[in-house]
Amino acid sequence: MTAYDPDRYSRQVRFAPLGADGQSRLAGARVAIVGCGALGSVVAMTLVRAGVGFVRMIDRDVPELSNLPRQVLFDEADVAAGVPKAAAAAAHLRRINSAAQIEPVVADLTPANAASLLGGVDMIVDGTDNFEARFIVNEYACRNGIPWVYGGAIGAEGRVMAVRPGTTACLRCLIPDPPAPGVMPTCDTAGIIGPTAVVVGAIEAAEAIKLIVGVTDGLRSRLLACDLWEGVWRTIDLSSLAEQGCATCRAGDFPWLEGRMGTQAAAICGRDAVQVAAARPGAVDLAALAARLEAFGAVTANRWLVRAEVEPGTLLSVFADGRAIVAGTRDESRARAIVARYVGA
Ligand SMILES: [Zn+2]
Repeated sequence: MTAYDPDRYSRQVRFAPLGADGQSRLAGARVAIVGCGALGSVVAMTLVRAGVGFVRMIDRDVPELSNLPRQVLFDEADVAAGVPKAAAAAAHLRRINSAAQIEPVVADLTPANAASLLGGVDMIVDGTDNFEARFIVNEYACRNGIPWVYGGAIGAEGRVMAVRPGTTACLRCLIPDPPAPGVMPTCDTAGIIGPTAVVVGAIEAAEAIKLIVGVTDGLRSRLLACDLWEGVWRTIDLSSLAEQGCATCRAGDFPWLEGRMGTQAAAICGRDAVQVAAARPGAVDLAALAARLEAFGAVTANRWLVRAEVEPGTLLSVFADGRAIVAGTRDESRARAIVARYVGA
């Protein structure tokens, strides 16, 4: 049994389905949250306030002003400082609950780093905005028998599904063929309102708490779908999909985790920006790069990244793991050319 402060959590413990035993399980739980944007912010804040003992925050990006209407862990100071979302979130979370162990990871989830980013936790919660990351999470979770919670939010619509590999339907059961980029509406094309992110993140956190506490009768195979603008909530029964299973959860086929599906450069949802993968991971000397980029414009440098306006309206951020994000364009070939020009191949 993991110890916790009984006064601090007295109202949660009084909630009978959770109780003292549930609170102790929360204190001993280890959770990875993939993506620290709109959904990840709400999930992390809720779980850390609830007393979850260890939270790993994984995010590849830096906060910007257009994130603030819905990404509740960040403020204008974080945007100005250019601190990556994972690190900025960790600082806020530590002020919310100093007893929680918070581990920020500034990285993009890929097949190559999935085992180190997602290893050593009891559960994974989806705070991402793209299907590539979600399918990597789904396959890692199915292969290792780790429960995870899927969440999606666009416009005023939300989706949440808790996945317990071997028991419930998985993401591939629900979506056999992930949509090609550009086909599905995104935050860019359809927009999003803050309440959608808060509601979906809160439901994800509730599902995560139930999984940690060990309540499984409220976690049957089902998808919760809501439309906040229309005021419609639906629960879709997925038990027949679960019985059938799919190539991933039934037959052990892991195309995303094994790198047979996926991309190298990708436009980032919600931003006028493109991420370019590292040519050689972990090979960037940030101090030397900062000195070099000072010739082109004002440089922001910290232990996680170097950022400079290398051309008018084009902001280049290079991370310590070798990735780059080029803001001010959605053109992937232009983004690659800028990285090649200012960082080198
Ligand atoms: Zn499946």
